[in-house]
Amino acid sequence: MSIDLTTPVQYVKGIGPRLAEVLAAKGISVVEDLLYYLPFRYEDRLNPRTIPELMPGEMATVIAEVRTSGLFRTRNRGLQIFEMTAGQGRHTLKSTWFHAPYLKDKFQPGQLVALYGKVDQSTKGRGALVMTQPQFEILGMAEDGASPEEMQSLEMGRIVPIYEASGKLSSRWFRKVIHGALSNLSDDLPDAIPAIVRGHMQLMPRQQAFWHAHWPDEGESFPLLQSSRTPAHQRLIFEELYFLELGLELKRRRMRQQPGIAFQVTDPIRQAVKRILPFHPTAAQKRVMKEIASEMQQPTPMRRLLQGDVGSGKTIIAFQSAIIAIENGYQVAIMAPTEILATQHFLSARRILERAGYRIVLLTGSLEADRKRDTRRHIASGDAQLVIGTHALLEEGVEFAKLGLVIVDEQHRFGVMQRLKLMRKTTQVPDTVVMTATPIPRTLALTIYGDLDVSTIDELPPGRTPIVTRRVPDDRSDEVWTFAKKVIAAGNQVYIVYPVIEEAEAEQAPADSPADSKPPGTGRQQLKAAMQMYDQLRTGPFAKARVGLLHGRMDAAEKEIAMSRFQRGELNVLVSTTVIEVGVDVPNASLMIIEHAERFGLSQLHQLRGRIGRGSAKSYCILMTGPKITPEAEQRLDTMVATTDGFQIAEKDLELRGPGEFFGTRQAGMPSLRVANIIRDRDLLEAAKKEARYTLAAPEHEVSPEERNRALKYLQSHWNRRYGLVEVG
Ligand code: ADP
Ligand code: MG
Repeated sequence: MSIDLTTPVQYVKGIGPRLAEVLAAKGISVVEDLLYYLPFRYEDRLNPRTIPELMPGEMATVIAEVRTSGLFRTRNRGLQIFEMTAGQGRHTLKSTWFHAPYLKDKFQPGQLVALYGKVDQSTKGRGALVMTQPQFEILGMAEDGASPEEMQSLEMGRIVPIYEASGKLSSRWFRKVIHGALSNLSDDLPDAIPAIVRGHMQLMPRQQAFWHAHWPDEGESFPLLQSSRTPAHQRLIFEELYFLELGLELKRRRMRQQPGIAFQVTDPIRQAVKRILPFHPTAAQKRVMKEIASEMQQPTPMRRLLQGDVGSGKTIIAFQSAIIAIENGYQVAIMAPTEILATQHFLSARRILERAGYRIVLLTGSLEADRKRDTRRHIASGDAQLVIGTHALLEEGVEFAKLGLVIVDEQHRFGVMQRLKLMRKTTQVPDTVVMTATPIPRTLALTIYGDLDVSTIDELPPGRTPIVTRRVPDDRSDEVWTFAKKVIAAGNQVYIVYPVIEEAEAEQAPADSPADSKPPGTGRQQLKAAMQMYDQLRTGPFAKARVGLLHGRMDAAEKEIAMSRFQRGELNVLVSTTVIEVGVDVPNASLMIIEHAERFGLSQLHQLRGRIGRGSAKSYCILMTGPKITPEAEQRLDTMVATTDGFQIAEKDLELRGPGEFFGTRQAGMPSLRVANIIRDRDLLEAAKKEARYTLAAPEHEVSPEERNRALKYLQSHWNRRYGLVEVG
């Protein structure tokens, strides 16, 4: 039976309704999905090795016959070892697996097995060779219905694809089923990418790409295969990225077609904008302000991402942009992720914009009902010109009279949808700036924020001394406290940060720690916690200093008191959790001590460290670590010591955690890509963006209307199914 890409998988040979359900749970529902389930590696069984030619140290594939197997216990430490001996004629090769009782009845004498692994010199038995923990496949049994000949032709004598097994579905099963699907696929697959784009990218035909990616030709380069760099892979990856970018580009265009506000930037306004500056702006700040001001003058809605490392001075840009909107008779909303930060913005806005006489209000969740009602009334009447707040701004009942500009600070803390909600609170489409201090690697900016324009502050204000970062094991905490006392004696302030609030929580990983940060076997490790350490520190090492406590479970008023006492210099030490992670600005603080630093994510550490190094005193960040550190945590800590460059850190973080985790679970805007990897494939991503824009803008003799429609139709039918997660405002 001939099938096409849209055929439900249950009609593919070897898959029935029951397995179709199992596959559906993996997101595989039609043939196209199945074909996108690419092998994660390949094995060269074209030239499997004979046992005598094996060399110690090499990776090799050996096909041999099972002779004996059994489970043993080592004498000294009682380790369970499974051993299997396989042979080719009179030559034999032993394989061992540690802790593998599950292999007990796996092999039967006479079975043909393919073994893939590292060849080692055995410690006993006069230099005999062994394979330690090889991956294996039993080839001899035609357990799933295929004839032995048929199986063998897929399993041997060629480059064999290895698929990620899933429950009962083995790599072999996928191999057989996908091979079957490919063989029965109708001959001419529709290709929704316009011909001229295929030409630019020299894409091979789709069908050929599927075949080659699953069943490479004999001559295919192994390194290219393993790194997904064959023309077949590149074609499939490009295709995925192209349609993603096409979708984003379309959204972007739609947004631009809505009527926006064309703000006037007259000379008096320009003067007003300059007048508020409490310092000389950096060149980068000037450039970014120009970009924003000129786009605000356009009659289309501005959608801009303003990124700049912690401390690069984004706040003043927000205030300056606000002045333009207010002077044009519009209201401005600035939304911050925490009450602390909203309050801080409110206080600096009052300080900086005071002379201009604007009416500024603060709206947070903890306001008393009366105050809240009052504030809302001022917002609804248009009386309040600058509204600063938290999520409370998004609540029902908050109506703006004439909202012209929305600024969202620390964007990564908000779901993208929330941004939308705020914008809908008005009949005109306001301009939007989202500010983020988590520098977004360009690759991510191209995907998740693909519909936004990007402005970057890539320069720190002058006079900052680089922060010195050191790692110290926590059994040397006495030295750290002594150092902190010196810093206090010199008149500077200290943050001490803990991963959890109370010791009771210490048995679980904190909710906001990266997934890998709980090394095996440390689940019950005692974590020092902010509350307990606060008591210990203020009665012990810092008995003579003034110590404050700040954590997320305190109520808003308590938080504000602690924060403002620290801000005014009334506290020498602030013991805290990550609530101070974002935006807090106390230039006199010059030392940050982070306990259990191995528990924090890389971006989080960077954000925390960004709280210091803001004043004239030399600043220090001390990463204290517990005894058990995973290799990944090691890399995070090393990166922190090696660099303070937020972009480098973000790239490393992305590399370590992968794009899905990069923004944490709160950020649901990340597309789930199946063959592309935006880190590995960043070149193709750039190309895809370019080609997507071109597709929509090209003249008719280059991309015909039929071709464009075909691409858009394909996009439409796939957008929800494939990129359902993407919701980019
Ligand atoms: P972020 O980009 O992290 O939000 P802020 O806007 O809070 O940074 O600025 C960090 C600190 O640097 C603030 O104390 C701010 O007043 C100061 N600052 C910003 N720009 C300049 C500048 N051009 N010259 C001197 N100080 C500046
Ligand atoms: Mg900020």
